[in-house]
Amino acid sequence: MNKKPLKIKPTCQICGCDQRRELYHASLVRPVLADLIHNEHGSFVEDGWICNKDIQKYRHQYVQHLLQTEKGEISSLEQEVIDSLRQQEILATNPDTELFAGLTFGQRMADQFAQLAGSWGFIFTFSGVLVIWIIVNTINVFKQPFDPYPYILLNLVLSCIAALQAPIIMMSQGRQEARDRLHARRDYQVNLKAELEIRHLHQKVDHLLMHQWERLVEIQDIQLELINEIKNRT
Ligand SMILES: [Zn+2]
Repeated sequence: MNKKPLKIKPTCQICGCDQRRELYHASLVRPVLADLIHNEHGSFVEDGWICNKDIQKYRHQYVQHLLQTEKGEISSLEQEVIDSLRQQEILATNPDTELFAGLTFGQRMADQFAQLAGSWGFIFTFSGVLVIWIIVNTINVFKQPFDPYPYILLNLVLSCIAALQAPIIMMSQGRQEARDRLHARRDYQVNLKAELEIRHLHQKVDHLLMHQWERLVEIQDIQLELINEIKNRT
């Protein structure tokens, strides 16, 4: 007569409990959980048993671990933003202040003169002076007109003003061009920075979509598992 083979009583690989109702086959444990258990208990194999209490414990540990890495990643993102804010100076400064700071007295005078010469006020005032000059020298307000017809002195004065006006306006125009160049360079810098920031934001959004979504789905999976277990018990 053959000896009846000894049936090994199933026990939990972690705590060693042998209540049949509480035991699950280890192959039913989620692979990520199995890895976690294997890390702590090197002897854990898929071909054994594990009790419900231990599954709950490791499930809890795993979700906590997920949430902690999530938290760590969010705080590292925040750190990155803070660092970038600290390192990168704000480029959107007013280029005019930089330009006006280095101006000499003569350059400022030239600017003001060019602004004055290009106004309606200057044209009306100058026309008035010319008309008064001509009237005074035509209808003999004084005993002797100081510049009789054909107003040679007036011609000389006008020629002198024109000769001086041209280089002063050119001086002012040259600086206007320099200001335009500075504006263009600043615009380029701001555009470049905006482009880089947008790329940075894209990367952040991609990161959120890829990693956090994955983790949320995993946590939801575990929750569904728990719900199913509760359902089966009732
Ligand atoms: Zn156990």
